[in-house]
Amino acid sequence: MVMTAQISPAHATPETQLWEQVHGQMPKVFGEAVYRSWLKPLSLKSIDAQGVATLTAPTRFIREWVANNYLQEITRMLREHVPSIAGVELVIGKPAMKAPSEDASSSDNDNQRAGASSVDVADPQQMSAQLDPRFTFENFVVGKPNELAHAAARRVAEAGGVVQGCNPLFLYGGVGLGKTHLMHAIAWHIQRNTPERKVIYLSAEKFMYQFIRAIRFKESLAFKEQFRSVDVLMIDDVQFISGKDSTQEEFFHTFNALVDQNKQLIISGDRSPSDMDGIEERVRSRLGWGLVADIHATSYELRLGILESKIEKMQGIEIPQKVTEFLAHKITSNVRELEGALNRVVAHATLVGTPITLESTQEVLRDLLRANDRRVSIEDIQKQVAAHYNIKISDMHSARRSRAVARPRQVAMYLSKKLTSKSLPEIGRKFGGKDHTTVMHAVKRIEELMGAEREFAEDLELLTKMLQN
Ligand code: ADP
Ligand code: MG
Repeated sequence: MVMTAQISPAHATPETQLWEQVHGQMPKVFGEAVYRSWLKPLSLKSIDAQGVATLTAPTRFIREWVANNYLQEITRMLREHVPSIAGVELVIGKPAMKAPSEDASSSDNDNQRAGASSVDVADPQQMSAQLDPRFTFENFVVGKPNELAHAAARRVAEAGGVVQGCNPLFLYGGVGLGKTHLMHAIAWHIQRNTPERKVIYLSAEKFMYQFIRAIRFKESLAFKEQFRSVDVLMIDDVQFISGKDSTQEEFFHTFNALVDQNKQLIISGDRSPSDMDGIEERVRSRLGWGLVADIHATSYELRLGILESKIEKMQGIEIPQKVTEFLAHKITSNVRELEGALNRVVAHATLVGTPITLESTQEVLRDLLRANDRRVSIEDIQKQVAAHYNIKISDMHSARRSRAVARPRQVAMYLSKKLTSKSLPEIGRKFGGKDHTTVMHAVKRIEELMGAEREFAEDLELLTKMLQN
């Protein structure tokens, strides 16, 4: 028989006491802000005979967020007090105990009650994140890899209203390639030239956070309402909502409503809508509805151009051309790292008071250069693996399924996943346009084989070592 202890406010059961203790520690463990937004409304409903504790959360959103982000730590905290707790379950439900400041029966439009801690719905601009003053069009260096994205961004910024065919404008590319820079540049441009137009820029994470908070404080209507007065909405890093079904749903509705109201939307992500995993098909297709512009990896010329433009703005700094070329040649990962390298070299020279030379640059950036050197490309891997198994490099791109080529191809895919920072879809493309699931399957298969055959595992270890040297 399963005994379930129901906790009621009338009796101070051991569970009530336990929850008071654990709840009381949460602000310190997670921070005030997190506690107030997510953890305060939780309550402990019961602990059953199997030792499974059931917590309640007031809404789907809060439940999902807490489950994804904080549940592990909460479980650990509960176990500290009651080691026999076998697991923790999070369900949607009314709190068993009323928190002193809250009234579970407050109606939906009772906004007053949420008081000072609620989302500020009065001023939509308030919701926008800060814009970086350096991220302007003037400071953006255009080259082949980013020219389409840049042109589209300019177009949207300069148009007085919605640009048909560019709604939404979807910018995508790897980290540090200038997505956020372009979005801020659009916002700056509109603010400067048509200040009457309202622009909101938000990370997808912040958007979700605000939205969930609004629901928590029963202000979701007001939250949606405030977008009505907005002309341009930008959501950065939309991949953040992948896999979060209920938040996606809300995002989708807001998104559709805005497009219907003829608002300009600008979205960024780390991959194209069609490559986004964990996003519902209709959301994905809607994201790709307007213009999808990608930012490619930087070229040597673009890196050089970016460095020169940055150096020009640093007054009184002399950097030999040789050093600039060296940096553009060696720091290939992304623009953020390139900027970081330049800043380090300049800071060092300024602090120590010595001129910048190739030698001092190599010295200052030793660790960074080593990391960039160690980076293996997919092409290197394909070449090495093909040589090792004595097949043609072109077999890496082919669709031939004979074992003699299919297995080495899987090995190369596996090593690409392991040794590079490329995503599954990117890897798939480099292998003759294969689907990301094919790559995923290859990785799994090779891992299985490594576990089963020692000789095979040693073979791969050897290949890995050769590629890393
Ligand atoms: P992302 O959002 O794509 O990760 P960011 O927009 O944050 O990348 O860019 C990273 C850094 O590189 C920023 O400091 C940005 O100003 C700079 N940057 C990126 N691309 C360019 C460019 N084409 N010209 C000048 N600076 C750039
Ligand atoms: Mg960014």
